[in-house]
Amino acid sequence: MNRAPQPDAHGPPGERQRLHVAIQGTVQGVGFRPFVYRLATTLHLPGWVLNSLQGVTIEVEGDAAALAAFVHGLEHDKPALATIHSLQTTMLDPVGFTAFEIRHSDSEAGVAGALILPDLATCPDCLREVLDPHDRRYRYPFTNCTNCGPRFSIIQGLPYDRPQTTMRGFTMCEACTREYEDPLDRRFHAQPNACPTCGPHLELWSPPPVPLPAPFSVPLEGPAISRPAVVATHDAALRLAAQALREGRILALKGLGGFHLLVDARDEAAVRRLRERKRREEKPLALMMPSLEHARQACEIGAEEERLLLSPQCPILLLRRRPGADIAPAVAPGNPCLGVMLPYTPLHHLLLGDLGFAVVATSGNLSDEPICTDEHEALARLHGLADLFLVHNRPIARHMDDSVVRLIAGRPMMLRRARGYAPLPVPLPWERRHPAGTLALGAHLKNATALALGQSAFLSQHIGDLETAQALEAFRRVSRELPELYGVQPDRVVCDEHPDYLSTQHAHASGLPVVTVQHHVAHLLSCMAENELSEPVLGFSWDGSGYGGDGTLWGGEVLLADGGVRRVAHFRLFRLPGGDRAIKEPRRAALGVLYELYGDAACDMDVAPVRDFAPPELGVLRQMLSQSVNTPRTSSVGRLFDAVASLIGLRQQAAFEGQAAMELEYALDGIETEEAYPLDRGLSSPRGASGLESPRSLDWRPLIEALLADVHAGMPAPLISARFHNALAQVIVDLAQHFGQEKIALSGGCFQNKFLSERVITLARRAGLRPYWHQNVPPNDGGIALGQLVYAVRYAP
Ligand SMILES: [Zn+2]
Ligand SMILES: [Zn+2]
Repeated sequence: MNRAPQPDAHGPPGERQRLHVAIQGTVQGVGFRPFVYRLATTLHLPGWVLNSLQGVTIEVEGDAAALAAFVHGLEHDKPALATIHSLQTTMLDPVGFTAFEIRHSDSEAGVAGALILPDLATCPDCLREVLDPHDRRYRYPFTNCTNCGPRFSIIQGLPYDRPQTTMRGFTMCEACTREYEDPLDRRFHAQPNACPTCGPHLELWSPPPVPLPAPFSVPLEGPAISRPAVVATHDAALRLAAQALREGRILALKGLGGFHLLVDARDEAAVRRLRERKRREEKPLALMMPSLEHARQACEIGAEEERLLLSPQCPILLLRRRPGADIAPAVAPGNPCLGVMLPYTPLHHLLLGDLGFAVVATSGNLSDEPICTDEHEALARLHGLADLFLVHNRPIARHMDDSVVRLIAGRPMMLRRARGYAPLPVPLPWERRHPAGTLALGAHLKNATALALGQSAFLSQHIGDLETAQALEAFRRVSRELPELYGVQPDRVVCDEHPDYLSTQHAHASGLPVVTVQHHVAHLLSCMAENELSEPVLGFSWDGSGYGGDGTLWGGEVLLADGGVRRVAHFRLFRLPGGDRAIKEPRRAALGVLYELYGDAACDMDVAPVRDFAPPELGVLRQMLSQSVNTPRTSSVGRLFDAVASLIGLRQQAAFEGQAAMELEYALDGIETEEAYPLDRGLSSPRGASGLESPRSLDWRPLIEALLADVHAGMPAPLISARFHNALAQVIVDLAQHFGQEKIALSGGCFQNKFLSERVITLARRAGLRPYWHQNVPPNDGGIALGQLVYAVRYAP
């Protein structure tokens, strides 16, 4: 257990908070509002409930325990006819409600009927049918109803009717038609309604010995040698696939929003084989567990985590693993957490039910490519990766990865937003202009796009890193499709300031007016929007790196939003020898940090990063540094994490960005200390020539010197890591006090770090400050598009 000081589960002790709840589902005309009224008044929670075209929105104010009871009541005591398809919560500051009222529907012209639901996990009624030998849908993997099943992944256009979905090729049989037309039936107008007689079916394919020729998405013709062999169909295909998994083979499974690669999670050799073939040697792999009970055996699961695991959104949850869990070490090497989800389609339920053990369920792609969605394409792209392909003939209209959520200070924090959540809107707060038709194109890594419509931002699903041709193609498709689906013609685009981002280049090639937004400003604004923060706010935008516009790479920024956004402080700059190569080599960041402290002598020091370089390599780097060639300067906290991980000998080379930082976080395990390294807050910075104060430089040099002394004294890594984390948390509180700001916003990939975020939250509350962090939008670059929209709406001319 992590016994470091923890904030209480749901907020500052005894303090009132406002809970915003957005619900979609069968919640109209079923007595839902009176139910909400009774529930809220019973719990003495003032606030309001509103029925609108977007569903039911509720806000109530109270203490943490009452708010938790309220959410529980919404889900468990709702009227018999009501069904909740999605429930999104956001914790906000109280505004002082005094009574509970039923408000009248607002009219949001333009958004009417435009709400597209995400894909929803199989409901209990459908699951019961699938498991009932006497039901006509017994073991039918494509069973769904109006309360569950595919939605966003099958929509090709609006209105949402069967002919506008990928189900249009399937003609409903008599029995299904009867259900579809009966207003009293659970499948009344369930567009993907299907059964074994009329719906999609499974096939198990053995891959051809040589890859298919491109274009692979056309029906298979050509030489017989490139065709897959159909090993089995229907239920036999499913049973044989389970058998193959039991034997340790790798299965490519066509699911809801794309392909997964599956393998027995207990089988070390099989998991290693998957890693080698996928060229994903170190990133943790996600797991699918047969049931909540299985998940409990492997991980510690709290009440909020259980709620999320069982929700219709069914995300991957980062959970603390239990010692002795029956999971192969290769699943998540050296990682105290596991990424766990439960089955979310009948196909997954049937397969996992037959197996009775956990499987690795990782995206069906090579590293960095988007997830495969088409079975013919999968045969080509996953050739050599999978031993068998379990596919079906329901086309996937758009790729949809699994969403990833982590609990931070008792609240869910979205790390990857896709299945179950996209494209649900996020409210754009602040009653100002809300011009529909602004399209934000996001960043370069973890790309997602967003569209402003009415009072809301409609966020696309996670697209990924725009590094491969396939990812770029997916990005182009999504940025075209998102406005199309909502019938909007974009009249301007918003993008990052980085000229080399492909999303930026796409914006400039669009022919539309372009608004550019500095990366870290977008981070801060997305966090402010989610938390409905009014200015002034002191923002901490800490991440790997972004284009600063001043010739340096930003990434350790302190920004003040107050009638505009101003950079008031940043971490002291250091050089990154080799530029981007430093992302994969923490030792380069470490060398840059040492060079800043000791100059040329850094290259002769007896420390882990220097020892790790081969002498000729070190010679080249020494020259680069002394001549300032290809050594961009950065303020990045992400790179500072890398440098520290390298200096304490934890990691010199990283398989993926952020790996070293992650390991530095995990090195903390079990540590309990309030000690922190000294970090000079730069409060004596000179005034700039213009008379305005120039940004303060947070000087990490004393920190690194103290840390090196600890390293030389043989201090264990966990304690060093804790002192480093604590120093970063403390400087946030110090700066907020120095600048006289009460509200502090935490954004950027660094705040995916649970320890850092929770430590800041604890210290800030202790100091009487109000910390805010991300909830429904990722703190990483997946949240940039929202911040870009906010900037366009709020600040752009
Ligand atoms: Zn259902
Ligand atoms: Zn049928």
